[in-house]
Amino acid sequence: MRILALLLVIVGLCLLFPGSQRAQRSTPGRSDSGMDGRSNLSSDSRGTSLFAQSTAQTLHRDFPSDDISFLLIDIPSGEVLASRWDHPEIPIAMGSLVKPFTALAYGEGHDFRYPVHICRGASTGCWRPRGHGKMDLTSAIAQSCNSYFRMLTAQMTAAEMTPFAARFGLQPPSKENSGPALAGLSNHVAADPGPDHGSDTAWLIAPLNMARAYRELIRSRYDRGVRLVLDGMAQSARQGTAADVDRALLNSVALAKTGTAPCIHARHAPGDGFTVVLFPAGHPTVLLLVRVHGVPGSQAAGIAGRMLRSIEP
Ligand SMILES: [Zn+2]
Repeated sequence: MRILALLLVIVGLCLLFPGSQRAQRSTPGRSDSGMDGRSNLSSDSRGTSLFAQSTAQTLHRDFPSDDISFLLIDIPSGEVLASRWDHPEIPIAMGSLVKPFTALAYGEGHDFRYPVHICRGASTGCWRPRGHGKMDLTSAIAQSCNSYFRMLTAQMTAAEMTPFAARFGLQPPSKENSGPALAGLSNHVAADPGPDHGSDTAWLIAPLNMARAYRELIRSRYDRGVRLVLDGMAQSARQGTAADVDRALLNSVALAKTGTAPCIHARHAPGDGFTVVLFPAGHPTVLLLVRVHGVPGSQAAGIAGRMLRSIEP
């Protein structure tokens, strides 16, 4: 009874002082509306606000480095709970983060039957010099195998991708983005998605739209093909390129995908690492998108994991 009374008092206070419960945000001028552009002043939103306020404080305090950009999103409402990202609405290259959507676009045109492929490493255009060997879609997502996705996108055009991008709220690819660029890869087989992955040929997507697309992905988890992609993301967090995510978490596991893209910071580094995490894996309620300056995606995964651990229930 005492707990019930306490809860009633808290709810009462929230109703009396809704303004004081807004999440702290580091980006000035960001509106308080959700990612769908609608106002979220519902009772649900007030409920998440207490969580948002404390998580924002924790993340800004424990991860103060300017090298770390992040967006933390409440999956049910789409609300941005905490953020540090200059202009998340401006499209940038995010490398392999786009692969799950590329895979689904391919699936639509191929009855969701995905080929098996042998990755031979550098000679077939993979980032891993000695290759990944036999890959199916799920393991290719888990290992972010470039060779597999070169094969998948060999005949894919930007025009084919455009309606699919619209469905997930991604910026449409330009017509120069046909082929491997649709999987976040450079057209040069030898080197990507590293330093010489020129942004001139990269498919540019706004970080906010990328986060929204992953939210849409989990919301369409029962659609054809999505299970294979999500299995790949679970495997990635467990033992793939995002293995440092599950390693960092104490009580739970997650779904994750990594990416590496050319650095866009003034202090130039060879590349920036990205990781998106949906958490917890069984029924994700929060989404964290992280960019870390000057490291590959696999290291950004470690930071993302530690950030989630700091707010893990
Ligand atoms: Zn490979």
